[in-house]
Amino acid sequence: MKVCKFGGSSVADAAQINKVLKIVLDDPQRRIVVVSAPGKRDKNDVKVTDLLISIAEKALAGEDAGAAIDAVAARYGDIAAGLGIGDDVAAAVRKELQSRAAADKSSPGVFTDALKAAGEDLCARLVAAAFAARGVKARYASPLDTGMMLSGEPGAAVLVPESYKRLARSFSDFEGIVVYPGFFGHRADGSIATFPRGGSDITGSILAAAVRADVYENFTDVDSVYAVDPRVVPEVTAEIRTITYREMRELSYAGFGVFSDEAVYPAVKARIPINIRNTNRPELPGTMIQQSRRVEPGHPIGIACDTGFCNIIVEKYLMNREVGFGRRLFQILESEGVSYEHSPSGIDSISVIVRARGMDNIKEKRIVARIKRELAADDVVVTHGYAILMVVGEGMLNYPGILARAAQALADAGINITMVNQGASQVSFMIGISADRKDDAIRALYAAYFKEGR
Ligand code: ASP
Repeated sequence: MKVCKFGGSSVADAAQINKVLKIVLDDPQRRIVVVSAPGKRDKNDVKVTDLLISIAEKALAGEDAGAAIDAVAARYGDIAAGLGIGDDVAAAVRKELQSRAAADKSSPGVFTDALKAAGEDLCARLVAAAFAARGVKARYASPLDTGMMLSGEPGAAVLVPESYKRLARSFSDFEGIVVYPGFFGHRADGSIATFPRGGSDITGSILAAAVRADVYENFTDVDSVYAVDPRVVPEVTAEIRTITYREMRELSYAGFGVFSDEAVYPAVKARIPINIRNTNRPELPGTMIQQSRRVEPGHPIGIACDTGFCNIIVEKYLMNREVGFGRRLFQILESEGVSYEHSPSGIDSISVIVRARGMDNIKEKRIVARIKRELAADDVVVTHGYAILMVVGEGMLNYPGILARAAQALADAGINITMVNQGASQVSFMIGISADRKDDAIRALYAAYFKEGR
């Protein structure tokens, strides 16, 4: 059996959804279909999820969200009309959104999650109806009824591991095609919780693992995964045919938008290959993400760079001899609810790199003051505008000179390196640079590793 997930651009309008129906019907193995909310129809369009977030923001601010609700209702109405499935869809969507917007606002995060989730939920219902209108045996399945139980922060929920058993049971014997909304599940109290943005990938991966699918097909709008982001290097030709789970996880982490990084894990654990494919060109094989691949020694597979980090640099003379310094530092961050990403250290200094979105001005000041006071640090500085450049590839294992090449290419481009960190696995290394040089750095490394003659 195959679980297939269709991203926002694949369900952006009726014409795209017709492609989805055809792709699913072309292969009887495609039995579970996970959908995102309608995404952008063109560059200047707005994703339904973003419209829903703006409805939530307006409702929370006590402003009138009527126009924004109408815009979403019209979007679904147009899609339904294009698919020939009834003319009361816009009114039903409007009613549903009005009721979600009128719900309890005592927890803004939970309230916003419920609105965000409506995008996927309404889309799954529409797609199921579109199958049915074509005489296909298909039904919508809800995350609540099938046991997609989540916990954790609104907008960043995680699966409760026991869910796998319940999901497996829910899908143990079913007929026809099931259309399932991505991106959300439910907390123990029944409230809706969403995964991070792009989280429909996670839903698909979880379902593929739960039903032990033969493959998890992830349909999007690119022919394959490329060695670098084609928006930064439009001439990129290095299509990736196969990539390992850990390579993909590292590249996704560092900003490869094509597949959500958290989505790799459920499939990896269940050893289910993931196939990234193009809804607009389903005849192409796409990219396989799998346990292992044939490796070309000495060659990275991809380069990615993500911005939005800040670096907390702590200095204290004789830090290296102070037992428990690191634990106490991380305890401060823990008590402030800040998750750390990396922590390269020197003899009398340690850097803690965190995502800037987890820090606001007030929190930052408090953390700096606490580190100074509680750890008697000599100096604490927070630098912003930090980017992490990642070079990834199984072929880098035990192969000298790859980092040297990156360092030379960055030097030639006049880009200063602020940090270098290589994980124990040796399949990646990361380089800290200034965020405003991100694209230059990607281009420089692409030229160094992938241009002909290299
Ligand atoms: N619709 C959600 C988003 O835009 C989730 C997804 O598409 O995967 O982030």
